[in-house]
Amino acid sequence: MDHFLYRDGQLYAEDVPVADIAAAVGSPVYIYSTATLLRHFRLFDEALAWGPHLVCYAMKAASNQAILKTLAEAGAGMDVVSGGEYARAKAAGVPGERIVFSGIGKTRDEIRAALIGGVRQFNIESEPEMRVISEIASSMGVIAPVTVRVNPDVDAKTHAKIATGKSENKFGIPIAKARSVYAEAAALPGLKVVGIDVHIGSQLTDLEPFAMAYRKVAELTEVLRADGHEISRLDLGGGLGIPYTRSNEAPPLPVEYGAVVQRELGHLGCEIEIEPGRLIAGNAGILVSKVIYVKEGEGRNFLILDAAMNDLIRPAMYDAHHDIVPVIEAKAGAEQAPFDIVGPVCESGDTFAKGRMMPALGEGDLVAFRSAGAYGSVMASEYNTRALVPEVLVRDDQFAVIRPRPSFEDMINRDSLPEWL
Ligand SMILES: *Cc1c(COP(=O)(O)O)cnc(C)c1O
Repeated sequence: MDHFLYRDGQLYAEDVPVADIAAAVGSPVYIYSTATLLRHFRLFDEALAWGPHLVCYAMKAASNQAILKTLAEAGAGMDVVSGGEYARAKAAGVPGERIVFSGIGKTRDEIRAALIGGVRQFNIESEPEMRVISEIASSMGVIAPVTVRVNPDVDAKTHAKIATGKSENKFGIPIAKARSVYAEAAALPGLKVVGIDVHIGSQLTDLEPFAMAYRKVAELTEVLRADGHEISRLDLGGGLGIPYTRSNEAPPLPVEYGAVVQRELGHLGCEIEIEPGRLIAGNAGILVSKVIYVKEGEGRNFLILDAAMNDLIRPAMYDAHHDIVPVIEAKAGAEQAPFDIVGPVCESGDTFAKGRMMPALGEGDLVAFRSAGAYGSVMASEYNTRALVPEVLVRDDQFAVIRPRPSFEDMINRDSLPEWL
């Protein structure tokens, strides 16, 4: 459920007409709903209420500080995957003890910054990384809390570009090697083993791969405890999918996911951490765009929008489907026709949908891409020297620009010319 609904024939973001935001801020524009963000966070929080837990929002899904602060004030921790994300989380006021540091290539500078600023744990992804964290922590005279990310070799049955839990993926340490890696971790100075980490992929629409992975984590917990390690925390990653269309079968709910976690791991007495990104932010954001031209082609017609692949890359990168709806609702029974919905960028890949049935739209009409809150704005680029799309946060009947659209001058002035030119 989200808070982007039609009222009296026009699309609202909570209590604000989407058209009013587009009139004030221009298009394209990303719009996020506070109520939806909080609702999704609370669903996870409640799904794990049977035991000690922390929901660490995977901020790579949507990392505007206003979003981070909204969630952090509700009690969320953060999962970060770079030094930039760590700095952003801190800037948004998230305390270090609620920040989990993931990512397979943490640099020395990133590790040092997190140890200085405070960190809940590093999720170690390789043995060389483990040795570097040990070396830096020791040289600073501090202890780094760590888990090791294990790769359970489970097929997440999701898009190949977002599957991470098979042995051929670059992520984590093969679970069969875990005992020796934990033995080395325990022996290294500057490290304190606190638990186990796993994350098998994104946009999972079935609970079975989670159950399989978590069963392996449960077994490993017993084995590592028998080896003398203190396993008090299990970080189970993110990955629960969202409905991208209104018509298809709905993915499992957080409460059902929480029940699987309890069934597989509840008996171990561990604190549970999860790192959902997409499910918290995905349906909490829309991308609003304007029709520039309606072009009649040979055998097909095109809706040319002012949003493009640089603003929302998911269709080009993952063949992703986004529902695209008119901001002014079509009359019941209004005729629909197929359109290829495209952006203005000079790439054939700049196609959002092919043969999509749409009601009659004309120049200047607004449309909204649903489910664009996660992996939307954060993956945007300035390709074709197009300005990054501004972001707006709505709360009830208020809205605020949380990232303005840069001017062409802002963009161009970031270049500097060498003295010989
Ligand atoms: C991307 C990622 C997540 C979030 O995945 P979602 O599918 O957005 O929930 C969580 N943990 C790690 C380590 C990730 O890389």
